[in-house]
Formats: sequence, structure tokens, C-alpha cells
Amino acid sequence: MAQAILVVNAGSSSIKFSLFAERGSDLELDCRGQIEGISTSPHFIARDRAGAIIGERSWGEGVNLGHDGALEHLRSFLRGELKDLQLAGVGHRVVHGGLEYAEPVRVDSEVLGALKKFIPLAPLHQPHNLTPIRLLLERMPQVPQVACFDTAFHRSNPEIAQWFALPAEMHEAGVRRYGFHGLSYEYIASVLPGFDAGAAAGRTVVLHLGNGASMCALDRGRSVASTMGFTAVDGLPMGTRCGAIDPGVILYLMSERKMTASAIEKLVYKQSGLLGVSGISSDMRTLLASDDPRAALAVDLYVYRIGRELGSLAAALGGLDAIVFTAGIGENSAAIRERVCLAAAWLGVELDAAANDSRGPRISTARGRVSAWVIPTNEELMIARHTRRLLGNAVTNQEVRLNAKG
Ligand code: ADP
Repeated sequence: MAQAILVVNAGSSSIKFSLFAERGSDLELDCRGQIEGISTSPHFIARDRAGAIIGERSWGEGVNLGHDGALEHLRSFLRGELKDLQLAGVGHRVVHGGLEYAEPVRVDSEVLGALKKFIPLAPLHQPHNLTPIRLLLERMPQVPQVACFDTAFHRSNPEIAQWFALPAEMHEAGVRRYGFHGLSYEYIASVLPGFDAGAAAGRTVVLHLGNGASMCALDRGRSVASTMGFTAVDGLPMGTRCGAIDPGVILYLMSERKMTASAIEKLVYKQSGLLGVSGISSDMRTLLASDDPRAALAVDLYVYRIGRELGSLAAALGGLDAIVFTAGIGENSAAIRERVCLAAAWLGVELDAAANDSRGPRISTARGRVSAWVIPTNEELMIARHTRRLLGNAVTNQEVRLNAKG
């Protein structure tokens, strides 16, 4: 019987899952889905790999299923799905691996305890990421579980890139730049050789532009710097997050506007970014379709800040050979890619407009010094590969690269 790996990505109000089946030397998506609105109006949907709906259920308004109930529903759905497959393990997306975890790790109750210590570093995500691990350890102790971290890929950053200019004692205590979206960057680094061998062996900036957005500098496939820092609110403006701001603004809001920590948390995570500046929407599609000048301002600011960060990351790399666009906006918005490439013309990017309109994958002309690419990310597959590798069926880099080419 073929083996399967379940990938779980649990947030505060949703649990997303993907089931991968072993096919030859790699893993192939079998089905994916999610339960959203877990504590308000739960809705479950699952699709096969072609996108056809294979399961759907709503519980109605005001129902609180809890993560517990949501996971139970998922387990009973998967029992049907797993008829011809044997569940070999579960891989979880976990936002924070602290300083300790530079690699995915197999989780037992001891490791789970260690991961709980990082809750203060990511209070909005870490507890929810850990809940399904705890529940499955209790209910299916025979099934191995693996935690894959958003921070781990950036542990290769040089020490200097991790420092805030705060007293050294704080750095030692873990107040430093960690970086996030690491599973996405790791996936892109793993497939880049199949697109551009020169870039893979050189200096590349990857732009992960989704609801959450960040950029990462890759030197020969290893992360050396990124725009996110201690938390995932740093760096670029995002759908609803403000990105980097002067810490003096926070002090001003506390002392002059008497805002509490939780009010400021809501402001910087939920009410800022594209939504805050435009006052219209956090959705890039809505803003690009709008003729409201506030929508235009939000998009202008977004592109301006990407352009500045690109210069900063190119400086960290000491030059630039390629840029790669990925995630919702990066993969789908030719307009944003065009504007970013124009802002990066001084670095040697020359846009091929027709290729950009048809999504590349190469969207730069052969003349430009710096190549530009559109490469869809696949964090779930990265987690599934890590999980399988840790459970003993090593997928070598060679295989990963060959598969990426095909
Ligand atoms: P998440 O970080 O939640 O995984 P995604 O990677 O799915 O987010 O990205 C969501 C963003 O992608 C939204 O801002 C959405 O508007 C944007 N997006 C998706 N398709 C397009 C498109 N065709 N043009 C512009 N933006 C798009």
C-alpha cells in the first residue's frame, strides 16, 4: 500500500490540510482542504488534486467547533480518503523554532514542551500551530509527527544580520531577527536550479508577496538576510500588517493616545498595511481594480517599499543575479511585478512585458544583467518532503531538483 503524508497548517480560526501520496521517488498531492471559521461559523471543504470538491460541510452561524472538533472532523474525513493509502506521518507548519531549531524535528511530548516556550515570541500563531500536535499525540500516538518551522531556513543568516542594536544581553536572550516564510524560500531555493542554474549558484532575492509578505536574500541557495525580523509584522507593508515602522511611533501611541499593548497589536497586525492606507481593502485585486486615489496610494507605497528593500537585500548580498516572485500577488499580479521590475531597473532588471503577461516563468529579457522569474511556491510539499525524510525515506536534493524540472 502506498504511503501518505498529511500536512497540517493550523491558525487561530482555521485548519488547512494537504494529503500527499508517495509516487515513485517524490510525493504527489492527493487532496487538500480546510475548516474555516472554527469558532464562529465552521465550514469544511476538501478538493481532489484537480480541484473538484470531494467533501463539504457547514455547521451554521454561532457554532464553536473548537480546534478539537475541527480535527475530529478532519480525522473522520481522512479515514475515508486513506482507504488505499497508509498514513506514514503528519507534518505541521510551526511558525517559530527559536534559536534551537535550524531543521525540522520529530515531535514527542518533550519537544512539544520546548516549542511551547516560543509562544511569547509568536503569540498569535504558535499556540494554534501546536494545538493539533498535542491533540494527535494524545489520540494517535502511533503516528509520527514532524514540526517544520518558518524560522528554520533563516538560521543560516550571519550573526550580524540577526542583531538589533539593543544591549547585548537582549540579543543573548533571543531578542533578535529571526525571519519567516522560511518554508516558502526553502522550496524556491530547492527548485531554482531547474530554472536558472546561475542564479541558484549566485545571488537571488525572493519576493514572497501574499497576504503576509516578505523578501529573502539567497546566497547560493542559503538565506543570508530577510525583511521580517523578531516577528512577522516587520519589513514590507502587507495586507493588514504595517511592516517596519519607527519604534518611536509605538511609544507615541502609548504615551499620547494611551493605547494599550493589545490595541497596538490589533493596529499593527490587523488594521494597517494595504487595508489601513487605502481604507478600502487588504486585497490587492480590489485595490488594483479601484480608481479611488487612496487605493492607488496604498499600491504605490507597497511597490515603493519593495523597491527600497530590494536595494537593501542586494547590498547584503554584495550584488544581484536574479529576483523571483512568488505567493498570491507575486504569482498572479502582472501589474505589481511590472512595477517592481521597473523600480529595479537600476539594478539591471529589464522586464519582458509579454512574458510577464503570460506569467513567465522568465519575465526578464536576455539583455538584462539580472534575471526575473515567477515561480509558484509550495510550502506544503516542502513540509511533506521534510516529514518523509525525517521518517526515514530520504528524498535527496538531486531528486527534488529533477522533479522540479519536470
Ligand atoms: P496568504 O499569505 O494568506 O497565503 P496568498 O499567497 O494566497 O496569501 O495571497 C493573497 C493575496 O494575493 C491577496 O492580496 C490577493 O489579492 C492576491 N492576489 C491573488 N490573485 C491576484 C491577482 N490576480 N492579482 C492581484 N493580486 C492577487
